[in-house]
Amino acid sequence: MPRPRSGGRTRRALELNALELISRKRDGGEHSSDEIDWLLSSYLGGEVPDYQMAAWLMAVCIRGMTRAETLALTQAMVRSGEVLDLSAIEGIKVDKHSTGGVGDKVTLIAAPLAAACGVKVPKLSGRGLAHTGGTLDKLESVPGVTVDLEPERFIKQVREVGIAVAAQSPHMVPADKAIYALRDVTGTVPSIPLIASSVMSKKIAAGADAIVLDVKFGKGAFMPDVPSAKALAEEMVLLGEGAGRRTVALITAMDNPLGDNIGNALEVQEALDVLAGKGDEELIEVSLRVAGEMCRLAGVSADPATVLRSGAGRRKFEEMLAAQGGRLTEKLPIAPHQVSIESEAGGYVEAIDALEVGLVGVELGAGRMRKEDRIDAAAGLVIAAHVGDQVKHGEPLATVHARSLELAKSVAPRLRAAWKLSPRPVQRPPHVLARIDKSGST
Ligand code: URA
Repeated sequence: MPRPRSGGRTRRALELNALELISRKRDGGEHSSDEIDWLLSSYLGGEVPDYQMAAWLMAVCIRGMTRAETLALTQAMVRSGEVLDLSAIEGIKVDKHSTGGVGDKVTLIAAPLAAACGVKVPKLSGRGLAHTGGTLDKLESVPGVTVDLEPERFIKQVREVGIAVAAQSPHMVPADKAIYALRDVTGTVPSIPLIASSVMSKKIAAGADAIVLDVKFGKGAFMPDVPSAKALAEEMVLLGEGAGRRTVALITAMDNPLGDNIGNALEVQEALDVLAGKGDEELIEVSLRVAGEMCRLAGVSADPATVLRSGAGRRKFEEMLAAQGGRLTEKLPIAPHQVSIESEAGGYVEAIDALEVGLVGVELGAGRMRKEDRIDAAAGLVIAAHVGDQVKHGEPLATVHARSLELAKSVAPRLRAAWKLSPRPVQRPPHVLARIDKSGST
């Protein structure tokens, strides 16, 4: 990328240039890939200040980007840092990504299942963001587990165990890190081209041959409805395919929390239970669909449902945890206080507000309010009354797991209000709404 010089006349020329790009985007114009390259490298080099980048990001939020611009932005972001070389791992390597949700432990189930089917799974994951949980925080609740694997160790583990789940190196896609931090504080996160380029630049830099995307919609997700989730998925599939990676997206529901448990150690326990054959039907369905797509992309014919029943998925998950330092003979952390939240009315559960439940989880310590906050690995809640269940007055809706009784009691009113009851029986809504690949949507 060209690196403009700073100082005197050059600086004035660059500012005029950034101003020109901002104005063009504000007026609905299009940028060339050279212009996008220049903007990104100048921002990273400190030549374009935060306020100009923020103005441009806001113009993108309002005006959008063409597919060519989104592709150029993604490629420029990938080029801003290191790209992982996975060529030492034989076979088709398949990554998986979720756009984030509440109680979303699908990676902990689908990825080991796919690995047990024979897929090579080199997976780089993230931490919790806002009300949504993060796979790295969940894994770190297992005593001894590390997610900081050097590339050599990461590659060796995928070769030997078939799966590794680790944190992304800070040297990969530094442009996303800088721009994401700015978007977070300037109201410029909700933009399909910006989200698509942010996610896909990281997936492309992570080096896998194929990618399965779990694009969530609903109250607990970043995308509010099916059409916006589909639009994001289409954009991401095109970016992945444009970079030579086979990419498939599933559109899945996140109006209600997924499965029974919300919280880091609680979600690891639920994943272990599902892999041992017991669990919520929605969680199992989504996990099997994701694992099935991973197998299909890898050209592996094993059936994840059969592998789940055999217990091989659970053994693979335990093998992965042990390879990453996990001491499986030790218990997962358990909160000292467990308080049942009882319903103050009777009826059928029509909805459980996933955003509210996620925010309660953060309040309990399962997520972070500030970047520097420490996670309470044992905190969270276990849902007792799911959508479609009938509850009577005084029966439990959920059990709160908290470090103090006061904290557990303080979230009770908010949690109760998250359950919407109906006087009439309720059907659980469909979980997987669509599948999108390069040939379209089914
Ligand atoms: N997750 C990301 O990695 N990037 C976004 O822009 C939004 C969610």
